[in-house]
Amino acid sequence: MLKKLAFLPIIFLFFNACVDKDEDLIIDDTLENKEIIQSLYGIDISEFDIVKDTVRNGDTFGGILDANAVPNSKIFEVAEKFKDSFDVRRMNVGKPYVLFNSKDSTAQTKVFVYEKSRINYVVVDLRDTTTVFNAQKEVTYIEKEASGVITSSLSQTMEEENLSPYMSDKLSNIYAWTVNFFHLQAGDRFKVVYTEKFINDSISAGLHDIKAAYFEHRGQPLYAFEYQGDSLQLIPDYYDEEANNLRRAFLKAPVKFSRISSRYNLNRRIKYYGYKLRPHKGTDFAAPIGTPILATADGVVSKSEYRGGNGNYVKIRHNATYDTQYLHMKSRKVKVGDFVRQGEVIGYVGMTGNTGGPHVCYRFWKNGKQVDPFKQDLPASKPLPQQYREDYQQFITPLKEKLDCINY
Ligand SMILES: [Zn+2]
Repeated sequence: MLKKLAFLPIIFLFFNACVDKDEDLIIDDTLENKEIIQSLYGIDISEFDIVKDTVRNGDTFGGILDANAVPNSKIFEVAEKFKDSFDVRRMNVGKPYVLFNSKDSTAQTKVFVYEKSRINYVVVDLRDTTTVFNAQKEVTYIEKEASGVITSSLSQTMEEENLSPYMSDKLSNIYAWTVNFFHLQAGDRFKVVYTEKFINDSISAGLHDIKAAYFEHRGQPLYAFEYQGDSLQLIPDYYDEEANNLRRAFLKAPVKFSRISSRYNLNRRIKYYGYKLRPHKGTDFAAPIGTPILATADGVVSKSEYRGGNGNYVKIRHNATYDTQYLHMKSRKVKVGDFVRQGEVIGYVGMTGNTGGPHVCYRFWKNGKQVDPFKQDLPASKPLPQQYREDYQQFITPLKEKLDCINY
């Protein structure tokens, strides 16, 4: 009896918190839809006819404006006097532009706007004294939530849930050290709180950032919160609910999507060699030719050459204890002395040297000896420093609550 009473208020609070948030979201949506556009690029549109088009093959700035009754002297003035803010010869096919034409019978273009990119645009104002200036669309970030249950692969689930393919990329990067995305199980599931970038409040420019994530792999829950704190000393990184950094000093694999075709095995015997002992001191990751090979940790390139059975290979010195080596590359992208960051592309999968098929043979050296990286207790990245812990807990509490409230 006592036990039951103790549980009741907790359940009630939890339930309440989840419901309230959904209602807030709905109210926000209806407000946004009621907005009416009265200006474009900050220009009042009431006195113009608006013509929207995209630059086609053969179009020129002069040609477009000439066809819209702009005097040649004006066109020449823009092309010559405002070169620094707008080089009219550098308009690209496929980019949108907008003409603000007068409503009278001349239909003369008074303002021309060219979109250099999704966010940057240039305004050529031909009214009175000609002015040309560059500006940026207003970018807003809207927080959203998503979830999914994996049936086959992460990317397929993302597609089924109508989520950006970048989401799958970002999520697998966050959990690169804790989850092997090649060995997901049906029933593994995820939830994310993310921000989507919007231009002028209406046009989505896609996924911006994952603020918090929850991944359940083989029934094991893994939280991830992006945190920077207010310190310039810290770079934004993902930590779990106990402020442990989700990164490891080493990536689990030197290729993103691959399968291990042969493990480190000192007792390997091969039929071809009459079952003689042929120890394998590397881990083979099979992947298609041309797949980027990534440095598994920060370090300095100590070898980059073609030699015998190794073929094209690269070796990286990480610190006084660890080196890694990558064999059979199709081509190498780094040279001796280069500093490489974890995850940086150092070459491409090939089959140079002694190899039966395209793969990268990954060799992991500890104190000058080749060891099995999967048997090593590899150093974790440093947890969040103590002085940020309190702030971190306050920061993640509402995010964790949000995650817990998302349904699948
Ligand atoms: Zn090998």
